[in-house]
Amino acid sequence: MLDLASRRHRWDELGYHPPFAQDYLRQYREMVEAFDPATAEHRRDTFPDSDAAALASCVQHRVLSSLPHWEGCVLCND
Ligand SMILES: [Zn+2]
Repeated sequence: MLDLASRRHRWDELGYHPPFAQDYLRQYREMVEAFDPATAEHRRDTFPDSDAAALASCVQHRVLSSLPHWEGCVLCND
């Protein structure tokens, strides 16, 4: 996913130029690479379980809802 995004896959669908996206992707890649599942702890108060996460994808817009907009798709709900 990070490789696709870094190669600007589907960026033409955004409708704007994201000037900071490449840097955010680089930072996120560093976080993912530094993540060690062996030492990670599961905190139910900060991130939804896999059952709830499955509800966060909008089929029409093909996007995942972010946590501040957890009740629905940001495009469907303005
Ligand atoms: Zn939607």
